[in-house]
Amino acid sequence: MTNNVCKICRRAGEKLFLKGEKCLSPKCPLVKKPYPPGQKKKRRRRGGGLSEYGKELLEKQKMKLWYGVSEHQFKNYVKEVLKKRGGSKDASLELIKKLEKRLDNVIYRLGLASSRAQARQIVSHSHFLVNKKPVNIPSYQVKKGDVISLKKQKTGKAYYKTVILTLKQTEPPSWLKLDKEKLIGKVIEEPTLEDSGLPMEIPSIFEFYSR
Ligand code: SF4
Repeated sequence: MTNNVCKICRRAGEKLFLKGEKCLSPKCPLVKKPYPPGQKKKRRRRGGGLSEYGKELLEKQKMKLWYGVSEHQFKNYVKEVLKKRGGSKDASLELIKKLEKRLDNVIYRLGLASSRAQARQIVSHSHFLVNKKPVNIPSYQVKKGDVISLKKQKTGKAYYKTVILTLKQTEPPSWLKLDKEKLIGKVIEEPTLEDSGLPMEIPSIFEFYSR
């Protein structure tokens, strides 16, 4: 991902955590320039000066980038949910579940990658087993009871030795469980809206795709 994604954070005025460790460092462009790209600091307008359409578009972009999925994939998730649930409160939860239960997101949530982009890369490079079978599809949907483990031949890698050290400071969300020594994760519950910690308004996203 290029620095362009940082422009989305600056436009939104909030951190979307799309660049791994950089997001937590003073190098984060939102820390250095906490105003929209193309504007001088003092010229920031209330509400960002966006139209309704512009706000919906921004919420959609934020969520799509948050999970690192393509426009095509994201639109499919939203359309599937809208078809099944309309724009109800259940629809927001349904959308969250689809995105949270992607294998790349689960690897990130377990703390085995520092960003979803990195998680997608190590899933694609076939590092993991789901229920003892190799899975290298980032969009693979896990379900309650699934066990995610590292392939035996990957356990000695220096990267995972570092991961074991960093895991001492992190905890996965309540719907996931992790053995921090063996790097074996389990899906123990369904994800909730609260677990996702999303800083965006999901109804605006449904509005955007209902136009
Ligand atoms: Fe870029 Fe991360 Fe900062 Fe967003 S939070 S501006 S993605 S470094």
